[in-house]
Amino acid sequence: MNIAGNLLIGQQPVRGTSGSTYAIDAATGERIGPAFGGATKEDLDTACALAWAAFDAYRETSLQSRAQFLEAIASNILDLGDKLIDRCVQESGLPRARIEGERGRTVGQLRMFAEIVRAGDFLEARIDPAQPERKPLARVDLRLRHIGLGPVAVFGASNFPLAFSVAGGDTASALAAGCPVIVKAHSAHPGTSELVGMAIQKAVKSCGMPEGTFSLLFGSGREIGQGLVRDPRIKAVGFTGSRHAGTELLSVAAARPEPIPVYAEMSSINPVLLFPHALETRGDAIARAFVQSLTLGAGQFCTNPGLILAVDGSALEKFISSASAALADVPAATMLTPGIRKTFEQAVSNMCGHPHVRTEGRGFVGSTPNQVQGALFSTTADAFRNFPELQEEIFGASSLIVRCPDMQTMLELVESLDGQLTSALHIDEEDHNDARRFLPALERRTGRILANGFGTGVEVGHAMVHGGPYPSTADGRSTSVGSNAICRFLRPVSYQDMPESLLPAALKSGNPLNINRRINGKITLAPK
Ligand code: NAP
Repeated sequence: MNIAGNLLIGQQPVRGTSGSTYAIDAATGERIGPAFGGATKEDLDTACALAWAAFDAYRETSLQSRAQFLEAIASNILDLGDKLIDRCVQESGLPRARIEGERGRTVGQLRMFAEIVRAGDFLEARIDPAQPERKPLARVDLRLRHIGLGPVAVFGASNFPLAFSVAGGDTASALAAGCPVIVKAHSAHPGTSELVGMAIQKAVKSCGMPEGTFSLLFGSGREIGQGLVRDPRIKAVGFTGSRHAGTELLSVAAARPEPIPVYAEMSSINPVLLFPHALETRGDAIARAFVQSLTLGAGQFCTNPGLILAVDGSALEKFISSASAALADVPAATMLTPGIRKTFEQAVSNMCGHPHVRTEGRGFVGSTPNQVQGALFSTTADAFRNFPELQEEIFGASSLIVRCPDMQTMLELVESLDGQLTSALHIDEEDHNDARRFLPALERRTGRILANGFGTGVEVGHAMVHGGPYPSTADGRSTSVGSNAICRFLRPVSYQDMPESLLPAALKSGNPLNINRRINGKITLAPK
């Protein structure tokens, strides 16, 4: 498989004719060939028509064959070998070890969803058998299962070129749910996108899936991205990126004659709360761990610790000087794109010039075009309350420490925060009583609450929530990481008094799929 700069529409490689763009080497800022042709409206229409035509057949594929399809995608990605890793490192500027780890996560996610599909629990099959003798009214026979929503538009994320892009968490969970996927590739890593897209395309063919199960489009967000979200054949959207683009997509989706859900992951500053005993006794160790988390991947994580809240005093001063010293040792890091670097530098420069913000530390000065220094700032509780811009996400290695006069003020500031993906408590046993008072406020605002850790490093599992109230995500009732992500792309259908021969396999009386079902409200385990 070679990068040719083509769109992938169903099984066809198609030369896009709506302008052409190039990948940029993140480290040098130089163009990398070949040129990528942008999708036209006709290309978008063909991809949507194919996806819609595929939907009914794809969602009724057997659990076994759908699971094998997901596993085939995983194997094909691994088969791309160093070609994929080299290109991804070049396009993203992220270190090789990180990209190799991300490939492992991507493949692991696909395999996890294969297991989820095989088990069949996601169908949530329920049967309330008829009770013809029930008085005063006979009870009907009622059976429920979940089906896929329909074709899903996925926007690849710049900061996870593998794990949240073409075959990433949104795509894997939508395919697992029985939804065809059309990916709008991120312009930051088009070559990586095409290689992974070809791996999916190959799996569609070898597993005998309907042609329109997957397509990949290059093009601008405003035209091709919004065009997808407007198309009546698209029934849901998965997005990771800026708050601006996410909210625009929400408006587009809401304005359709048939509005659809947009699962947009946008901005979060992930507050870290330092409690007095922990700060006093372990401040130095926490500070070093904080700087590691802050600067990981040039700070380009949605779970980056962008805000520290603590009571002012000598322990906090020591924490700040340890963190500043640790930051000063951190080499400059390459950002994903020149645009993301520019936004970061502008935001950091605004902070440096803010009359109520003190610059506490900076990392190494960069030596190549797209490198940046980490930044650490502090402010007062009053300023944090009065200047809303201090609550805004700075995407990159920048964090703000708020010096609170007391615990009550710290709690009030937590109450003033927007919705967050994560929050972290640094606590010793002596802090538990104080921490308990904060939990209700944190639960109302956060998707994942950590003790003595940082939100970077998101475990892909069954109990993970990577989501949170607006604006961290558009819909805090779901997660984009972990097996529960499949729920975003499903909806329930009930069948009343349906003849046995017309019932879907999941609901037939003999349980031919051998899945767990809820019968008369009680979980009935499938025979082993
Ligand atoms: P972005 O600008 O939101 O772009 C993400 C995707 O959305 C791209 O495919 C982009 O297409 C598309 N898009 C952009 N504007 C759009 C619009 N008005 N309508 C429809 N689609 C649109 O995000 P980014 O390029 O990854 O990074 C820019 C900034 O986003 C960062 O500096 C950071 O602030 C934020 N960000 C946050 C997170 C997070 O997890 N919190 C992650 C990534 C980025 P094109 O650009 O190709 O046109």
